[in-house]
Amino acid sequence: MMDHAKRLRSLISAMKARSLDALLVTDEANVTYLSGFKGQDSMLLVTPRRKFFITDSRYSEEAADTLKGFSIEVVRTTAYDTLRKLIRKSGSKRVGFESMDLPYEVAARLKAAVKPGRFMGERDMVEKLRAIKDPEEIALIRRSVSCAKKTFNRIVRGIRPGVTEEEIHRRLEIEFIRQGARSAFAPIVAAGKNSSKPHAHSGRTAVPKNGMVMIDIGCSLDGYNSDLTRMLFLGKIGDRLKKIYGIVRAAQEKALALIKPGVRISDVDRAARGLIEKAGHGGHFGHALGHGIGLSVHEYPSISGRTEARLAEGMVFTVEPAIYIPALGGVRIEDMVLVTKDGSEILTR
Ligand code: ZN
Ligand code: ZN
Repeated sequence: MMDHAKRLRSLISAMKARSLDALLVTDEANVTYLSGFKGQDSMLLVTPRRKFFITDSRYSEEAADTLKGFSIEVVRTTAYDTLRKLIRKSGSKRVGFESMDLPYEVAARLKAAVKPGRFMGERDMVEKLRAIKDPEEIALIRRSVSCAKKTFNRIVRGIRPGVTEEEIHRRLEIEFIRQGARSAFAPIVAAGKNSSKPHAHSGRTAVPKNGMVMIDIGCSLDGYNSDLTRMLFLGKIGDRLKKIYGIVRAAQEKALALIKPGVRISDVDRAARGLIEKAGHGGHFGHALGHGIGLSVHEYPSISGRTEARLAEGMVFTVEPAIYIPALGGVRIEDMVLVTKDGSEILTR
């Protein structure tokens, strides 16, 4: 059982540190994380004393049956009216909202509705809590990872020269469904030269006799996601690609070796990027080294050179260095890592 009360307590301490009397939570994954509710079009208004779950008549019965510790508020006229009433009733003066999620127009109208109270944009408040996974979440992530690995192993057997990207894509989707999962994102199957496009779309290109295929897949299972990329090599591979594969592999190992609590996240990115730059491919690696993963495929923290936060036990993220060379091909190797008490565990191997 997920301990939602504990999560709400942590959020309230974070709100106190920001002098917020209330926080409006609209991001769908954040609503699920704090309440356990899995439907849509619902939001939370969290205050130190009371927690409100705001939804419409489609979800009110389900919410009443499943949510504990929330007053359920069914929107009768408009969400603006409901929120204005609740904010007044709770006496909240400084109300935060999730500025990365709320559309501008909605935020502007709410700002007017909340007056004379202040309505303030906040970022990553719940996301920072979500970054540290609790044991129940880690167990679900492990199941999602094992789904992705199983899917990959079953699909690999059928990959032969001549099979198209689209066909592999279809087989992947069927395999996910067979395992009671969904695809966490549109799978990337890129044959030969197509692999130089980091997020190539599967098309009619066939697997070459001599060449490679990049496969990037993930399962969405019981709300939690996995994400891994593997390179398949068929027949004879040119020296240049072999060399690139070796560099990417070495860059990943270098980053992985660094992972433990207390290490600055930007240093993990720099370790891998530095090695790729030294090999002369700095311009061929344009994205961050990785991303947090859990309820969302991409979530806080980004494993990039700009993330000053430090690693902490319980974080789960991807490490996916890459080199993409237009007209030749690309290599990306992606694994998921759990930060443990004194190091890390690679979940996807
Ligand atoms: Zn991926
Ligand atoms: Zn990824």
